[in-house]
Amino acid sequence: SQKQLAIYGKGGIGKSSTASNVAAAMGETGKKVMLIGCDPKSDSSITLLNGKRIPTIMDTMRKKGEIKEEDVIFEGFMGVKCAEVGGPEPGVGCAGRGIIVAVQTLQKISSSLKEADVVIFDVPGDIVCGGFAVPITKGMVREAYIITSGEYMPLYAANNICRGLKTLNTPLSGIICNEREASGEKEIVESFAGKLGVPMLAYIPRRKLVQDCEREGRSVIEGSPGSEMANIYRGLAGRILTEKDKKVPDSLDDEDLRKLTRI
Ligand code: ADP
Ligand code: SF4
Ligand code: MG
Repeated sequence: SQKQLAIYGKGGIGKSSTASNVAAAMGETGKKVMLIGCDPKSDSSITLLNGKRIPTIMDTMRKKGEIKEEDVIFEGFMGVKCAEVGGPEPGVGCAGRGIIVAVQTLQKISSSLKEADVVIFDVPGDIVCGGFAVPITKGMVREAYIITSGEYMPLYAANNICRGLKTLNTPLSGIICNEREASGEKEIVESFAGKLGVPMLAYIPRRKLVQDCEREGRSVIEGSPGSEMANIYRGLAGRILTEKDKKVPDSLDDEDLRKLTRI
């Protein structure tokens, strides 16, 4: 059956770089992957498309009224199908409402969503309003993954996302640690995952290579296929494809969260 997942996490924590590398790694193994960027930043798929920014669904709908598949879905590295929801008009629209309209439109104009083996939603997690829960509440996502570092703010966001998942009765398949060089980071994130009752699926080290490849408009899988980093992303992709420990997560109270990071 089709795998439908959302990757959540605080802004800037590494959702898009991780999502695009994982998508590329899955594509490499022959999976049909679709990556849907739901962050108004709309840069989820840029490294799968040679650094090209694609027109967003929201912008295209505003400009053209009606849209076609080829206006907003682009095939990238390893055949990954890419789409970006884009943002509402700043100061006016609701990003969450935009995601609903965008994805319903995608379903109507394209069979890519239906035909994919894996659909990955890249979703911001700074604001945990109903808007960003849309892929879940609309039944487009069956499991979530959260990216965090060992720093307090991303952990705070991660914990909040867990509260949301609990309310929505949606399972979390695991925590992904993206290193920011906080001291004791691996232990902190492992312990956080343990308290939620889910595994830490990967520890992704902080490497300049990720940014160097990004600057060239490439994922690490494409730009440096033989590297340690590429293998780490491949390992994570494998874990996601064979995931079996998902559960509706617990969350921590604020004091326990602070204790965890010793602040
Ligand atoms: P998000 O999508 O969560 O906002 P991004 O994926 O855009 O975050 O990452 C933010 C920045 O951090 C990007 O420039 C990206 O290249 C960089 N980055 C992410 N993960 C790593 C890593 N493991 N090592 C080095 N740089 C990273
Ligand atoms: Fe943004 Fe959420 Fe408010 Fe919509 S409901 S405008 S997504 S904060
Ligand atoms: Mg992003």
